[in-house]
Amino acid sequence: MAKALFPQDVIIAKRDGATLNREQIAFFVRGVVDGSWADYQASALLMAIFLRGMSPQETAWLTAEMTRSGEVLDLSDIPGAKVDKHSTGGVGDKVSLILAPLAAAAGLRVPMMSGRGLGHSGGTLDKLESIPGFNVNLSVSDFRRLVREVGLGMIGQTPTVAPADKKLYALRDVTGTVECIPLICASIMSKKLAEGIDALVLDVKFGSGAFMKTLDRARELARVLVDTGKASGKRVRALLTPMEQPLGHAVGNAVEVVESIECLKGRGSADLMEITMALTAHMLVLGGISRDENDARAKLNSILESGAALAKFREMVVAQDGDARVVDDYGVLPQAQIIEDVVAPANAKGFIATVDALKAGHAAMALGAGRENAQSQVDHAVGITDLVKIGEPIAPGDRLARIHANDPDRLAAARELLLSGIKWAPVAPAIEPLVREVIE
Ligand code: URA
Repeated sequence: MAKALFPQDVIIAKRDGATLNREQIAFFVRGVVDGSWADYQASALLMAIFLRGMSPQETAWLTAEMTRSGEVLDLSDIPGAKVDKHSTGGVGDKVSLILAPLAAAAGLRVPMMSGRGLGHSGGTLDKLESIPGFNVNLSVSDFRRLVREVGLGMIGQTPTVAPADKKLYALRDVTGTVECIPLICASIMSKKLAEGIDALVLDVKFGSGAFMKTLDRARELARVLVDTGKASGKRVRALLTPMEQPLGHAVGNAVEVVESIECLKGRGSADLMEITMALTAHMLVLGGISRDENDARAKLNSILESGAALAKFREMVVAQDGDARVVDDYGVLPQAQIIEDVVAPANAKGFIATVDALKAGHAAMALGAGRENAQSQVDHAVGITDLVKIGEPIAPGDRLARIHANDPDRLAAARELLLSGIKWAPVAPAIEPLVREVIE
């Protein structure tokens, strides 16, 4: 008779550097979903994987088992190309909120399954939930209906679609096991392969605020993600983009919703709009709507100018039970009680050289915009706005950022963190392109 398998056998095997077989990986994923693995056992295996790594075969099995941990949607009865985008995680990365309605207004179907905040990085779901009433927990049939009728739906992992990632994502967030290529690949691709897409554009970030600190590591992650998607018959492209400073001027939840709506109104910051346009353009090309990136960009510019993308955002908010007045009245969003400017000190002179994205992410966490443990509640109102950008001139007393807080101690901690990441230099640093490489 075969020996019974226990969670600790798998944990010990990986702890000691063994390569796991498919049966052990399937046992783990099944146990996470049915609760027969305790959270502490799942977390121990995550840490062992983090420290010991996984072979390409183990990563492929983990991704496949996590994809099959729930329903794999088939949206082939919905006309049009189903194309999604996913970011590997950054600070101030609100691109999905702008890109999804923009792509849908251009004629794509966007079935988007996103995540919550992970480590110091923000999550699309937490941002959307700052809109009163907004429901990210749609049933599969409502999600299908939205993709068919509105052209997009933005949801989280559900108890029936990608349930293993729902659980593991939350555990990784609070156990220091995020920055690991096999775990990131299985997390992202299990959601994306389960949501019924034809094609996927990935925003693979590198730099201080990303989980991959260097371009080389980001390239490595991009290759694994693209190969995994292609092995499942999807058209996949990855853009490598820097995350040294936060994207745009806002970091938090409600404050990022405001900035996203401003972008849809044509008032977005240059870096945020450039990344959004590049990613959406690649979606249009993969979805067969545009013949090349230039053609796609021209189409997207005219859609933005016409107000059709903003109208699509409003339609989505209504369809997902959110308060659509948010589009015209930001006052319906949660507001922080204390608003304080952070100003440049007396020795500030020259040009902004660094706005450390990791420190800005930690400052937002200190305010309560992320989670300290699995039970923590996110404070949707708090965050940072009006953040300076690299290259701006600076003099004593100039505003570096505005902090929105609900607690004076948290505000003080956030101010210190943020300030420690802002540096200046006598000459403006060279501006590098925002899309460093495209990996197909
Ligand atoms: N996004 C995900 O969905 N998962 C990760 O692990 C990182 C970014």
